[in-house]
Amino acid sequence: DHAPLFAEARGDIAVSFEFFPPRTDAMAETLWRSIETLAPLRPRFVSVTYGAGGTTRTRTHATVRRLIRETGLTPAAHLTCVGASRMEIDSIARDYWALGVRHIVALRGDPPEAGQAYAPHPEGYANAAELVAGLKAIAPFEISVAAYPEVHPDANCPDSDLDNLLRKIDAGADRAITQFFFSAECFFRFRDRVAAKRPGVEIVPGILPVSNVGQTRKFAGQCGAAIPAWLDQMFEGLDDLPAARQLVAATIAGELCGQLYAGGVRQFHFYTLNRAELAYAICHMLGVRA
Ligand code: FAD
Repeated sequence: DHAPLFAEARGDIAVSFEFFPPRTDAMAETLWRSIETLAPLRPRFVSVTYGAGGTTRTRTHATVRRLIRETGLTPAAHLTCVGASRMEIDSIARDYWALGVRHIVALRGDPPEAGQAYAPHPEGYANAAELVAGLKAIAPFEISVAAYPEVHPDANCPDSDLDNLLRKIDAGADRAITQFFFSAECFFRFRDRVAAKRPGVEIVPGILPVSNVGQTRKFAGQCGAAIPAWLDQMFEGLDDLPAARQLVAATIAGELCGQLYAGGVRQFHFYTLNRAELAYAICHMLGVRA
C-alpha cells in the first residue's frame, strides 16, 4: 500500500502558527493576508516573535494587539530577557495581561552580536527558567518555552540541556516547542528523554517548511539545528525555480509531519515565515481543514 504517511490523519490534530512582526507596509500586507488564509484552520494559538535583543518590542505588541482586535485567534506573545531589566520585562508582561494576552512564549534570547557569549542584563532575568518564574508571579499566563532536540549550542552536553528544559517546566512552563529539525527519529528520542523525566509534558515539534536551503543554513548555524546533506541535494539546481522549490518543500515537510503523526504526535507548530501556502498545504494533508 502506497498511501502517504499522513493518510490516517483524521482531524485529531491541533496546530499553531508562528509569525514575525512586519517591518514594512508591504510585509504587513503579506502577513495579514497569510493570517486570513490560515485562520479558518482554527489554530489553537498563533505566536508572534520578539526580535533579537527586543528590537521589535513595539511591533510585536502592535501585531498582538491587532490579532486580538481584528481576529478571533488566540495570540501568544514571545518575550525574551535580552537587554532588559526585570522591571522592564515585568511591565511588558503586565501590559500584555491587561490587553487580554494569556499566553507567553518565554525565551532567553540571543546576544546582540552573533558569536558572543550570552551575558544577562545586570538587573535582568538570567535565563528562560527565571523568566518563566517571573511571569508566573505576575499572572497565571499559559507559558510555552523553547526546546532543542539537537541540543542548544550553549549547552555543555545533552544532559545539561535537558536539565535546563526541566527547570523551565518546573518553573511553570506548560509546554515546550522545539527548534526546527529534519529527523523524526531525533525528535522521538528527545521526546522520550523528556517523558522519562516529566511524563505528560507537551513537546510540540516546530516545523519549518524549507524552500530556501541557503537561508535556512544561515539560521541553523546559530541555533544548533543540523541541515542534512539530503536536504541540500533536494534543492540542487532549483535556485531559479521557485515554484518547484515550493513543491519540494511541501513534500519534505509533509513527509516529516507524516512520520511524526505515525509516531503519535498530534500537535504541530509551524514556522510560517509569514507565508500561508506551505503551512496550509501541510495542514490540509494532515487532515486539518477549514
Ligand atoms: P534558555 O532555556 O535560558 O537556555 C539556553 C541554553 O543555555 C540552554 O539550552 C542551556 O544549555 C544553557 N543554559 C541556560 N541556563 C543555564 C544554566 N543555569 N546552567 C547551564 N546551562 C544553562 N529568539 C528571539 O530572540 N525571539 C523570539 O521570538 C524567539 N522565539 C523562539 C521560539 C522557539 C520555539 C524557539 C525554539 C526559539 C526561539 N528563539 C527566539 C531563539 C532563542 O531565544 C535562542 O535559542 C536562545 O539562544 C535560547 O533561548 P532559550 O529560551 O532556549 O534559553
